[in-house]
Amino acid sequence: MRDAVVVGGGPAGTITAGLLSDGRDVLVIEEHASSGLPVQCAGILTEEAIRMCGVKPDILGKITGADVIFPSGGRFEVRSDCIKALLIDRADLDRKLAERAIDRGAEIKYGTRYVSHKVSGTEVSVSTDSGDISSKLIVGADGHSSRIAMSVGRNLPREYVYGMGADVRYRSGRDNIMTLRIGSEYAPGFFSWEIPFGDMMRVGLCIKAGTGSNPNEYLKKLLRVSGIKDCDIISRYSGKIPLGGRRRSYGDRTLLIGDAAGQVKPISGGGLYPICMAAPILRDTAEESLLTDRTSSRFLSRYEEGWKRKIGRELSRGYRIRKIYTGLSDRDLDRVSEIISDDEIRPMLNGIDLDNPSAVAAPIVRSPRVCMRLLPLMIRAIL
Ligand SMILES: Cc1cc2nc3c(=O)[nH]c(=O)nc-3n(C[C@H](O)[C@H](O)[C@H](O)COP(=O)(O)OP(=O)(O)OC[C@H]3O[C@@H](n4cnc5c(N)ncnc54)[C@H](O)[C@@H]3O)c2cc1C
Repeated sequence: MRDAVVVGGGPAGTITAGLLSDGRDVLVIEEHASSGLPVQCAGILTEEAIRMCGVKPDILGKITGADVIFPSGGRFEVRSDCIKALLIDRADLDRKLAERAIDRGAEIKYGTRYVSHKVSGTEVSVSTDSGDISSKLIVGADGHSSRIAMSVGRNLPREYVYGMGADVRYRSGRDNIMTLRIGSEYAPGFFSWEIPFGDMMRVGLCIKAGTGSNPNEYLKKLLRVSGIKDCDIISRYSGKIPLGGRRRSYGDRTLLIGDAAGQVKPISGGGLYPICMAAPILRDTAEESLLTDRTSSRFLSRYEEGWKRKIGRELSRGYRIRKIYTGLSDRDLDRVSEIISDDEIRPMLNGIDLDNPSAVAAPIVRSPRVCMRLLPLMIRAIL
């Protein structure tokens, strides 16, 4: 019997397998032929998140500032002397994480699809399209539409956004500064991005799911407005992001991580940093569970307590800010742009930490002058 079967060979699965495999029999099953493709990511990571991943992905560019374009066309500049984030080759990151998991002793079966599983008092029996596997624990790292997550009850995320983007051959001459557009015209319920790197530009956007809109139409519009519609599209990426968390990240003999656990930053849609924060806690819980043969949902709940202690506050505060954001009309957003242009606010936004972006909200709303101006908009958004 295996110690753990990890379903999903994305970053959540391979980071977890790499940590768990030390002296243990860990198997990862991944439906695709390799880790990393198809890409479902814009590849924006902070230096801290890359350090925590523990491998060195190819770095394509760096980001030191952003121009935020509001619905009426108003521009708000955020600038910093230091690197706010790096633009990486996400497929390369995933491949390197998988190689490291294998080096540490995990086995990865590619081209193997999880079909179902059954938990009994003594084991988890996992059915795949190439046979059955028995294991002491199952780790659901099977992404945004996780079936393992649904095996522990009604466990859908609160909402999804759909994302789509492309790398195009285009030299903007504005290296290090990304452009973000907000408002219903380009990215209803989220934002779009244009990130120059050398002779290339990575563009993309997410939109709120359930609006009946097609992200591809928004992408065409974005390429048009940013003046790059006739350039060569070198590659495309797309995907779905679960936001607002799930009800549970554990069950009997079951642990969930990454998108499967709803561990995604609600303001930016970033999933890599939360995975890096949660994985060591999952490892500690799983190790103790295997050592002491305590595999009940009650025992494994300590994993959720642990990761929520680390990142739960940022995720829930971020989701509250997102709810206010999605409640604002285009006119309200333009009004916000005027308010945040205040000399008192600008330095706070320049210092934003992209791994903990919601932290910037606290000092802003503590300023009575700014709070009084933001309050009516916030109340309207919530109501
Ligand atoms: C458009 C877009 C842009 C994004 N940009 C960023 C960004 O810039 N920075 C950032 O940090 N995050 C970003 N994200 C989020 C990030 O990509 C995800 O949070 C991250 O990939 C989650 O990793 P994961 O391992 O949980 O899931 P995934 O990467 O989705 O991996 C899950 C794996 O499980 C496999 N799988 C699923 N079902 C089965 C099955 N039945 N059998 C076998 N295998 C299965 C899948 O094939 C997949 O390989 C973005 C997401 C999107 C959609």
